[in-house]
Order: sequence, then structure tokens, then C-alpha cells
Amino acid sequence: MSKVSSPLLRVQGLRVEIPTRRGVLLALDGVDFDIAPGEVLGMVGESGAGKSLTGMAVLGLLDAPGRIAGGEVWLSGRRIDDLPAREMRKIRGKEIGAIFQDPLMSLNPVLRIGEQIVETIRTHLAVGPEEARERALGLMRAVGIPSPEVRFDAYPHQFSGGMRQRIVIALALCAEPSLVVADEPTTALDVSIQAQVLQLLRQLCREHGTAMLLVTHDMGVIAETADRVAVMYAGRIVEIGAVDDVIRAPVHPYTRGLMGAIPSLGPVRGPLAQIDGSMPRLNARPEGCAFHPRCSQAVERCRSESPALIHGLGRKVACWLSQEGS
Ligand code: SF4
Repeated sequence: MSKVSSPLLRVQGLRVEIPTRRGVLLALDGVDFDIAPGEVLGMVGESGAGKSLTGMAVLGLLDAPGRIAGGEVWLSGRRIDDLPAREMRKIRGKEIGAIFQDPLMSLNPVLRIGEQIVETIRTHLAVGPEEARERALGLMRAVGIPSPEVRFDAYPHQFSGGMRQRIVIALALCAEPSLVVADEPTTALDVSIQAQVLQLLRQLCREHGTAMLLVTHDMGVIAETADRVAVMYAGRIVEIGAVDDVIRAPVHPYTRGLMGAIPSLGPVRGPLAQIDGSMPRLNARPEGCAFHPRCSQAVERCRSESPALIHGLGRKVACWLSQEGS
């Protein structure tokens, strides 16, 4: 799915600022992307790139003092970034589900699993207790919880990490949201079950027609799960396009570096770029292209002018090399 005609989610020019005693830090700087109904957009980058912050801004869950300082977020044709907190709470859970890295963040430790799912269903859907219980059992079955009638009355600590994350997936999907924001949903799990849980998430989203913003540092996860990928660096998207295109032929030097870290996903031709150095801190973002101190292909212009994210080679890229003549 490379073109988005009628987006479910539209993020335009999103700016997030973090005021500090030493001044205001710009954490997201003009982030633009769309997600179509049923589409999975992977958002990838190193720690500090702004990918989790983007997910939290969409969910209306930015930690104070972080704040949206510009841009707009639209869901199903309705602007949601300026809604009062109470309105946004209704949208979370009902229209946008959330899955975080640590399943215990989403589960109440003193409430039985079945009760938590029933309560969430009844908060968002007009169904009676019996139907809610049947739906909860059906969801527990769908996410692969064995003997759901028995496990219905168990507490979160009585489940393994993988089973807990399956329950969080059930909770995120139980009100039939149109979008799920999943932030590193399998990073805390054993490697042996990461693929199973990802596959389950992908399959359930397909079956329910649910779109997903999948935040991860792992290009392998993107390759297995996403339709399109947005690569983030220092608070901006630097490349966005269909997963197959970006993986087969990454254009931005940073994307090439990320791919180079995974030999099986590296470009077919040409030497793999390695990324020396680290992501700049928010208070030390370089002038021009923020990647220039780490970029082996940087030219003079890169040190003073920041390239815009523009169309080229079937995707959008923010790099002067792909915009020669501009
Ligand atoms: Fe490298 Fe320049 Fe492209 Fe930035 S704009 S990625 S520094 S070549």
C-alpha cells in the first residue's frame, strides 16, 4: 500500500516542545504522515529519534511538561490534538487502542484479567454483562490464551510475560478501535515468542480492519509487520515509503545505516553504510541536516541547510543527495 487517498489518521506539521529551565527543546519538528484504514505504518529509528513521542502525541498522552506546540492530528476526519482531556480519554480505548512495551503498564494488578476486559468492553460498547463476558472469552481465545474460561479469573501476575502481552492486545482491540498505537510491543518478550506475538497482532488487525502505528527500533520487526515505514531521526521523518521499496533500496544514508545493522535486510547492491556516532541530544541538534556529523556523504550544504521531506524514487526522502538540482 504505497498511496494513501483517504487517511484514517493524518498528522500534519506536528511539533512537540519540552520546556526546561534552560530553554525550550524541540523534540518533534514538523512530523507529517498519514495512515490509511487497515494499514500498518512502522515508525523506526534509534532511541531519542522521537518515534515514541509521536505515538504518545497521537494518543494525547505526552508526559508533562512536553506539549504539542504546532501542527494537527486528525482521526477519521476529526481533529483530535486540541480536544479536552476528557474527550480524548473517550477516544483512547474506543477509537484508538494502545499497546506498550511493558504489559504491566496496561494491566491493573489487583483486578482479575476477565474483569478488566469486561470492564473495558462495557466502558466503550453498549453491551450487557453476559455479552461482554462472551466477547471477553472470545477475545482471550483469539489471542491464544489456553482455557480462557479457567484463566478468566486469574490475576496478571499469574501469567507469563508473553501471555500478559496477548491480554494487552485483547484489551487494545476489545472496543474495536480503528487504530492501534503499538510502542515496542514485543521488545520486553523472550526472543522465542516475539515473532508469534507480532504475527498475532498483525493477523488480528487484518481480521478487524484495524490500522496500526507500530513504533520500534527494530527494522526486522518492520519488515515482518508493516505495509509502510517512516524512518525518524532527531525529531523528523527522513524517509517514508512502502516497506518493500525502503528495504530493497533505502535512499537516506541513515536508513541505509539502519539496514546495514541487519545483514539479512541490507541492500542487495553496494557497500552497507555503518552509522558511527550517536543521535544528537535535544539541546545539541546540529545546524542543517541533523544527520550530517554522522553522514559519510555529507556535502557543504548539509551543514547549513535542512533538507525538506519531498517525493522522489517512489517515496519521500529528506536528503540533499536525492534532491539534486533543488
Ligand atoms: Fe547526509 Fe547531507 Fe543527506 Fe543529510 S542531507 S543525510 S548530511 S547527504
